Amino acid sequence: MEGYPQVEARLNRHGMNRWRSGHPWVYRAGIEVVEESTGREAVARVLDPRGRPLGQALFSRESQITLRFLTRREPPVDREFLRSRIERAIGFRERALTGRDAVRLVFGESDGLPGLIVDRYGSHLVVQFLAWGMDALGPEVTEILKDTASPVSILARNDPSVRTLEGLPRTVTPLHGETPETVVYHEGDLSMTADLRRGQKTGAFLDQLDNHRLAGSLARGRVLDAFTYAGGFALAAAGGADEVTAVDSSADALGLARAHAGRNGIDNVRFVEANVFDFLKDADRRGETYDMVILDPPAFAKNKRELPGALRGYKEINLRAMKILRPGGILISCSCSYHLSEALMEDVLTSAAADTHRSFRVLDRRRQAADHPILLGFPESLYLKCQVLELVD
Ligand code: SAH
Repeated sequence: MEGYPQVEARLNRHGMNRWRSGHPWVYRAGIEVVEESTGREAVARVLDPRGRPLGQALFSRESQITLRFLTRREPPVDREFLRSRIERAIGFRERALTGRDAVRLVFGESDGLPGLIVDRYGSHLVVQFLAWGMDALGPEVTEILKDTASPVSILARNDPSVRTLEGLPRTVTPLHGETPETVVYHEGDLSMTADLRRGQKTGAFLDQLDNHRLAGSLARGRVLDAFTYAGGFALAAAGGADEVTAVDSSADALGLARAHAGRNGIDNVRFVEANVFDFLKDADRRGETYDMVILDPPAFAKNKRELPGALRGYKEINLRAMKILRPGGILISCSCSYHLSEALMEDVLTSAAADTHRSFRVLDRRRQAADHPILLGFPESLYLKCQVLELVD
């Protein structure tokens, strides 16, 4: 088998169970032995306990997630292999998401490219190499992206903390061309900007674009956008609403949101710097009511251990939001904590509704946008939940 140099990794019983389940990751504990030659190989040839081939995976010596499957077959894993995966990923977005100038072109495992994120903003790309093996293939990926997407610039936003678990440094590095301070992109008719070097994620929450649009189509009367960041929900809602209140605890975020309102000539959004927990409590105390409340908090549970505290947090904001809704009002409730499953989130909402003695119907149960596809057998790829509830009684 030709291709990039490979280590050999032989699975044990635990590893075999993972492999059989279809999950693309095998943890350190699932591996019997790894045979390396140079110690710098990015790819592993994976074998069963009797030495029969199971496929090929990205290799991370230092990570608990030691193997991330690229293929369960025996093609050469080389530049052509990477190119065809990248072309397929980009091709899907071109067909399914025409007219969007901000789009996630590659979503890691879901595109058969574990540990790789590629986002496009206009003619600029942002990449993240989040696994050791993918980082080692970074120069190859960059060349392929230059060829297939012809970007003006490529920036590596390699600053997420997960890189540390892979034994990789946290850096932001230009890989090609020059990335401007801010890049313009569009959300429907709205003109937005993203700071690709310093903005949250790779500059914007691309996973919420479809949900912003839905909020825009349902908005009327008084709208509250809690956790607004750059104003994505608030500005989409401003068209249909009489007035929107956008709340965030970060002055920098509100600066972005305010600038976005300005560049789109929107003047019915009020920006409030506050902790949402306090804001909701005060709103309830003052007897304020809204026709729509949007909750899009940061991940309250970044790991399993944090889940109990996170559940209390989600319950509190949802309960308070439910209390300040007017009859027929709509609650758009999001959670981007992977550890809070859809079922658990529904439990939280059900219990919050019960405590307020109000009843809600589900208008929609949404997820991350289609350019962040979910991989069967890989629950980690379904992380964003967005429930749309209407107050019935
Ligand atoms: N709704 C945005 C994304 C929100 S990201 C969009 O669709 O683009 C989460 C935001 O919550 C961040 O801007 C962060 O500053 C803010 N935040 C975090 N904790 C907060 C709190 N307790 N109160 C208010 N804002 C908070």
